[in-house]
Order: sequence, then structure tokens, then C-alpha cells
Amino acid sequence: MANPSILILAGDGIGPEVMAEVKKIISWYGDKRGLVFDVSEDLVGGAAYDVHGKPLADETMAKAQEVDAVLLGAVGGPKYDNLDFSVKPERGLLRLRKEMDLFSNLRPAQCFDALADFSSLKKDVVAGLDIMIVRELTSGVYFGTPRGIFEENGERVGINTQRYTESEIERVARSAFELAKRRGNKVCSMEKANVMESGILWREVVQRIHDEEYPEVELSHMYADNGAMQLVRWPKQFDVIVTDNLFGDILSDCAAMLTGSLGMLPSASLGAPMENGRPKAMYEPVHGSAPDIAGQGKANPIACILSFAMALRYSFDQGDEATRLEKAIEKVLADGVRTADLMGPEGGTAVSTVEMGAKIIEA
Ligand code: ATP
Ligand code: MG
Repeated sequence: MANPSILILAGDGIGPEVMAEVKKIISWYGDKRGLVFDVSEDLVGGAAYDVHGKPLADETMAKAQEVDAVLLGAVGGPKYDNLDFSVKPERGLLRLRKEMDLFSNLRPAQCFDALADFSSLKKDVVAGLDIMIVRELTSGVYFGTPRGIFEENGERVGINTQRYTESEIERVARSAFELAKRRGNKVCSMEKANVMESGILWREVVQRIHDEEYPEVELSHMYADNGAMQLVRWPKQFDVIVTDNLFGDILSDCAAMLTGSLGMLPSASLGAPMENGRPKAMYEPVHGSAPDIAGQGKANPIACILSFAMALRYSFDQGDEATRLEKAIEKVLADGVRTADLMGPEGGTAVSTVEMGAKIIEA
């Protein structure tokens, strides 16, 4: 059987710096555990624009469609700020998501004990937190029509349309239930069925998919505004949260900050199952290209490494290895190793990107 395949798109800014540490970990798996990946690399974002005049070449897009998983660093930077919208670095990323049809965006909020003091919340509220937000990524109010700014009765009106088809809700619901089966077996679906038609349909369809296909998973429904409150009040009541594109955007940012630093947060974007039964997938840190610290060797590589751990779990059926990698990170943090973004006001000595990567491999 062919080795599992990975396309690395390191991108811009700190993207290549944090991805360099992931590449070392991928090599380590081949050398030490006989888990060999076929790795290819290509350009995305500003790096691709510099060479091809566009942020994602067609050949790169084609490659992304063929591999088992895409690992992406970050795109963008001040050098590209004044480019035309059609060739902006971010458009490379959007094209990948759209053409791979990555409808299910997974954002874990996991709090490592050693960093529990970092949260803006009390330590006992966040210590040991491990929840997953599943955000619908390809539909909803960001895409629905009619949309635009129109003239009406002598003044302008801005219009967006929240729109969900049954099949769009079904597929993201399934992806949430599948995840829950591998985790705490609990899903909370969030919408506003009290005031929105799309919310009524959302609730009905999620409930039906549950009853017909996943009766063994515990399902609850919550209005999204209450969900926001509950996330901050007592986040450990949740396991998997499934919600639409707009609410997911807001709730996942809120959940992210329960855990502390942007440099710690991974994500996965999953699509429909391929022939081998696993979903099309792209993994990337939540953070951006961080131009303010790019080239200084001090970026935290953990978000990118945790994104690779998600790839191990969701694309390569290597859940045990993913857990092992997460444990190594936990140990390094517990030993007090910190990149600059993880330093509290009391200060201390920060390690570099490369040193953090090396410590994790050692652990
Ligand atoms: P984008 O629009 O691409 O999401 P952004 O403007 O939201 O980018 P980031 O590039 O994510 O922002 O950076 C936000 C802040 O967080 C910056 O000060 C950056 O230095 C810091 N930051 C982001 N990622 C990391 C990291 N991996 N390690 C350390 N600091 C980081
Ligand atoms: Mg941002």
C-alpha cells in the first residue's frame, strides 16, 4: 500500500518557521516509528504570488485534491496589503477551502494545565478543558443570496441572507456526531430557532440525523446566545458543539481565548469522505502570519504541531500517536519551557521556535 501523503504549504511570515518544526516531527515518525509519509511541498499566499502572480497555482490546487492531507502554515503580510483583492494571499486559502469543499471546521479549545493561569478565567473553570467546536464553513449568511447594498425608498440598505439547505446541515451534523463518538459522546447544537427560520430547520435536521443515525450520542440544543454565556460560565459542560458559519465564527474565537495564547491553537477543515473513507482535509494553526515577529525565530510552533496531531488523528487513523504528541507538548510545558508568547508578566527566559521544536521531539 502507498504511504499516506501530505502536501505542505508553509506560506508566508512565520508559516515556514513553524512548519520547519513540523517537518522535523514528520521525519521523526519515519525514522523512529516506521510511519513514513510521502511529503511534497508547494507555495501558497504571497510566496506563490511572488512566483506565479497568483496566490495559488492551478497545479498546486490539483495536488491538494489528491493528497490525504494538506498542512498549511499561514498566508499574508504587509508586502501584499495593496494587491488587488483577486490576487491577495488570503484568496489562495479561500480557494483551497472552496474547491476542496471543506464544510466542517474543527476548532478544539484545549487547556494545558501548565497554561491554565493564562486564561482570563479562573483556573478551575479552564484547567483540563477539552472541547471541540464544529463550525459549518461553506454556507450560511456569509454566502447566501440576495446580498449587497441596494437603494430602497431613497436610502441604502445592506442585505445578507442566512440560508441553509437540509443537506448542508446533515453533512456537518454527521461530522459532529462522528467526532463525538471518538470523544465524550456528547453534542450540543447551537442556533437561534426562537427567532430564525434557518435555526428551526437546523434544530430539526440535527435532531433527525441524531435519531436516525446516532441515537447513542447524547444530543442537546441551545440558543447560541445562551451558548456564548455558558461557554464562559462553565465550558467543561460541553464536549462537541456544532453550529453554523456565523455563530461558529464568534463562538470559536470565544472558546479559543479560554485557553490562553493564539500560538497554541490548531484547526482542521474537513470535507466529504474520499475513496479510502477518510475526509478531504486541511490542517492549519488558527494564528496568522504574524508579520511583527516573522524572521526572528521566536514564533511558537505548538499550534502548527497540534494541527499535525489533528492530521494524525483524523486523516491517518493514528489517534494514539496524536495523543502521544499532545502528551509530549504537555510535558514540555509542564517543564516550564516557554516561547515568548507564553511568558507571563513575571518574565523569564524564552526559548526559540527551533528550541521548542527540539524539546518536543526529545519528550
Ligand atoms: P490574520 O489576519 O492572518 O489572521 P492576524 O492579524 O489576525 O492575522 P496574527 O498573524 O495571527 O494576526 O498575529 C496576531 C498577534 O499574535 C501578533 O502579535 C503575533 O505576533 C501573535 N502571534 C500569532 N501567532 C503566533 C505564534 N505562533 N507565536 C507567537 N506569537 C504569535
Ligand atoms: Mg486574524
